[in-house]
Amino acid sequence: MSTAATDWRARAADLRPDGRAVIDGRRVAAADGQTFDKHSPIDHRLLGPVARGQAADVDAAVRSARAAFDDGRWAGRPPAARKKVLQRFADKILAAKDELALLETLDMGKPIQYSLSVDVPATARCIAWYAEAVDKVYDEIAPTARSALALITREPVGVVGAIVPWNYPMIMAAWKLGPALAAGNSVVLKPSEKSPYTALRLAELALEAGLPPGVFNVVPGFGHEAGEALALHMEVDAIGFTGSTRTGRRMLEYASRSNLKRVYNELGGKSAFVVFDDFADLERAAKTVAGSMFFNQGESCNAPSRVLVHESIADRFVEIVAAEAPKYRPADPLDAATVMGALVDATQLNTVMGYIDAGLSEGARCVTGGRQARAETGGFYVEPTVFDGVANSMKIAREEIFGPVMGVIRFGTEAEAIAIANDSPYGLQASVWSDNVNRAHRVARALRAGTVHVNQYDEDDITVPFGGYKQSGNGRDKSLHAFDKYTELKTTWLRIDAA
Ligand code: NAD
Repeated sequence: MSTAATDWRARAADLRPDGRAVIDGRRVAAADGQTFDKHSPIDHRLLGPVARGQAADVDAAVRSARAAFDDGRWAGRPPAARKKVLQRFADKILAAKDELALLETLDMGKPIQYSLSVDVPATARCIAWYAEAVDKVYDEIAPTARSALALITREPVGVVGAIVPWNYPMIMAAWKLGPALAAGNSVVLKPSEKSPYTALRLAELALEAGLPPGVFNVVPGFGHEAGEALALHMEVDAIGFTGSTRTGRRMLEYASRSNLKRVYNELGGKSAFVVFDDFADLERAAKTVAGSMFFNQGESCNAPSRVLVHESIADRFVEIVAAEAPKYRPADPLDAATVMGALVDATQLNTVMGYIDAGLSEGARCVTGGRQARAETGGFYVEPTVFDGVANSMKIAREEIFGPVMGVIRFGTEAEAIAIANDSPYGLQASVWSDNVNRAHRVARALRAGTVHVNQYDEDDITVPFGGYKQSGNGRDKSLHAFDKYTELKTTWLRIDAA
């Protein structure tokens, strides 16, 4: 056992996370006093009680956010002033790196090394990036006739409801908070009931950084209670949602049943990773797909779970992937050397094992993995799993598994590869591997996905938009384009009289 591992376990043992909501700048219990128990997926240890937010708590948070918006305590400040506060917020996130990383790992099971090296820095960078952007974005004057002046300005939408999942709890929250707060909105954030702790700490850090009370509230709770109440609330102007396609549909229903609030959905994926026989470095392609698929226990919306390989190179490709996969075998997430942690809970474990059974019963060949692991810990672990001989019609190719399971589908021609890749209700991400520049461009153009990678899969930056085609959602997180979701465009006409 390494010293670092001992440290993290000792720190984890001492941690008593606060599960109360943050409403109007204060930590509060749910109005009716109800809580739910939050267990760690690492070993099922009880982390503590969490406020079980209901409609009354959501209403209090939305009222606070509305009051903060209407009196201009945040939206009315000059962009440069908002920038300073958000920069301090980003600095505080980095200063609380160890605590936030530990909370994230304990809450949803990812390896501590990635909470430290990926989740915390990406969260801080996102907040800092939008802070820096906000006093550099100009509005417009339309090229109209000289008798008038038409100003096209962006204004914050008002109160934003942010509802986020558990796979990257802090990063997903930051993708909403960064642009929404920078633009001057007030936010009510509903984290997943499976990962509430870092969102609550983020709200405290924002207050410490000088964000006025009421501008950023967090109501933990269940989707069908706090989530539904937030999405139905008449005083919420926009919903920034990340989660499953199933819940995304509900968001649209909630909007139509209430105030037609704007709904921006970032939903599931079933991303295709297409390898042609003219790509020379097969080993790099195979190692990349293993790394990307098994990162975060396969609980990534953009995981390359459909691996399309030209039939002439497929045997060799599968051989390399099958040799790579065991390197990602799950271990204790609190050990600094661990590369794959625990699935988020027993439900997710059962879902993933159910898909593995479905793959086997539909005739796919499991070349490595396929079993639960570390059951003796009380936690929820699955071996990195590779299926060969997958048909695109199989359940494991059509549905999002959200676990460490990839399926290899063989193809013959370029047209066939494109047709299979696009034959999915999802369109979040895709990649094409080819040394032929014409083919690479041709196929990249043909793939119906919000992000297409060529000869790599890992490149990512806050400067580029992220989101999906088809049932992977609408709107885009990240980049300056995210401001579109959290601002209204206003046209103001001024008459200019002739002298
Ligand atoms: P989920 O849809 O079950 O839950 C997401 C959030 O919605 C949670 O906060 C949950 O409490 C809430 N919710 C659930 N039911 C609700 C209801 N009836 N009314 C209101 N709110 C409700 O999704 P999940 O299991 O937490 O997350 C996994 C999903 O998220 C996957 O499908 C994954 O692909 C997707 N995801 C997408 C992106 C992206 O950027 N496109 C990023 C990360 C995750």
